[in-house]
This record gives sequence, C-alpha cells and structure tokens, in this order.
Amino acid sequence: MGSNTDIVFLNGEYMRMHEAKISPMDRGFLFGDGIYEMVPSYSGKLVGFALHIKRMQQGLATIGIQLSKSDKYWRDIAENLTAKNGNGNLGVYLHVSRGADVKRFHAFPDKVTPTIFAFVYEIPTEPAADKTLTKQFKANSAEDHRWKHCDIKSTSLLGNVMHFQSGQESGVDETILYNAQNELTEASSCNVFIVKGTSVLTPPLDKQLLPGITRLMLIDILRQEPTLTIEEQVVTMDEVRNADELWVTSSSKEIVPVVELDGKPIGNGKVGDIWQLAQTLYSKNKFNY
Ligand code: PMP
Repeated sequence: MGSNTDIVFLNGEYMRMHEAKISPMDRGFLFGDGIYEMVPSYSGKLVGFALHIKRMQQGLATIGIQLSKSDKYWRDIAENLTAKNGNGNLGVYLHVSRGADVKRFHAFPDKVTPTIFAFVYEIPTEPAADKTLTKQFKANSAEDHRWKHCDIKSTSLLGNVMHFQSGQESGVDETILYNAQNELTEASSCNVFIVKGTSVLTPPLDKQLLPGITRLMLIDILRQEPTLTIEEQVVTMDEVRNADELWVTSSSKEIVPVVELDGKPIGNGKVGDIWQLAQTLYSKNKFNY
C-alpha cells in the first residue's frame, strides 16, 4: 500500500516509492556524501524555487559533485512530482549524492554517476498570520556541536539530528544553538531571528549557519517595511533571552514564534505584534520569489 504521495523520481524515472532502489554502495548511504533541498509547494505553486536551486547548485559545486542540470530540469521534476501526487500542500525533497562506488574508500571516485532522488511529502497548510491560529514553539538551547561547514546543505545531518532529538526528549519543539562565544548560530532545523523594539536581528551568514531561503526572503521583504529595521549582525544569547520576540524560520514552517526558551518566557510570553506583521508580509509576498 502506498501513501498519497507515492510517486517518486529516481535517476530519470518516475516510479512508486517501493520500486525506488538505491545501491548500498551509494556514497550518500555510506558517507552522507550529498546535497539536498526542500522546497514548499501549495496547490502546485512553488515558493522560492530558483533560490533553492541556486543554493543546491552552489552546494554541489562546493563539494565537487559534477552535475550540469539546468534549472528547468529541476523545475520539471518538482512540477511533475507535485502534479502526480495531487498538488496539495507538499514539500518537494531533492537529493543528489555523489553516487555508488564499487568499494568503500573515502576519496572521490573518478567515474561515478551522481544519484538523483526526489519525492514529495505532505506539509501543513500555509501558516496563517494570526496570533490565535499560529503554531507557538517552546525551545531549549545548547552549544552547537555540529561541524564547521553548516553553510552547506549536506545530507550528513547527524549533528542536527542529535540536537533536534535532545530537544524532543526535553519536551520542546526546537533547540536554539550557540557557539563557544555564547553567540547565536541557528536552530537544529531552522534559522533564528530576534526582535527588540522595532529592530529585527539575525546572525550574519558564515560557516556556522545555513543560508536559509526563508531567511533570505524574509530579510528582503522586511527591508521594504518602513516601520522596521532589519540587521544581519552577531546576536548574543543574552540578547536572545532578553528579546521581545524570538522566531525560527524554515521553508515548511515560514516564521514560527518561540514564546518560551529554557523554561522562561520570551518577552511577555505571548505571540508578538512584529511577528504578526512579518508573517502577514511574508504570506503576501512569498510567491514573488
Ligand atoms: N537551518 C537548518 C539547519 C535547516 O535544516 C533549515 C531547513 N530546514 C534551515 C536553517 C532553514 O532553511 P530554509 O529556509 O531554506 O528552509
């Protein structure tokens, strides 16, 4: 029995999920040697598609996977998969691994064909810019124990998985991460923003965090809002704890207010007005990217 989203794409062909077979010698399986993307699609309309593909192409180039596929190639896969799977609220997952070798050897093999896998899965309906309807997160915090290339959207996600799992085991929704200098990096599966007064702040892009597409779009959208200032700057954990509002962002969640961190309220412990404005503007503009 398949699910409602049973049609997948593997190496040039569409098939049922159970028909998709990948070699156990695939370097994605053995080493987590690959790059992935997740693009949201609502009723067949993709959000930020070109930006996601650009990030994926950059990631592939950074790790030396040679694959020259056009933006159209990826768009066709995404549109075919959403259509074949019912055009609902879907996350389009795209995955490229370096491919299957004949031996397990760390160095990149000379001749290997990258494995291309894509599937879709159901995501929640489009978030509403409504304080009473929105998800509200509780988070904990932890020192970031991941590697020094968090700017690459690598399929090697064990560090993220372990941080996320520790949050789950503590009964929270996300884990906010900081470096050895007590500076905010990101969360285990999201970027992070804080609000103080009318200033919206988020850490600058470097190797400590993923260049999130939601982050990029939100910064661009908020820069056009005259009542707010938005800065990419170092944010300390003290500033996070004393913020008026705390948000996490990702493609499937958009902007989620975090009302409690490590058991203490953020601001007045309620969803904030600037969140409401930001999510309203994001909802209005997100299909323009
Ligand atoms: N940081 C991490 C570690 C992530 O895994 C993600 C995506 N889930 C994000 C940030 C947000 O990225 P995007 O807005 O592109 O989904």
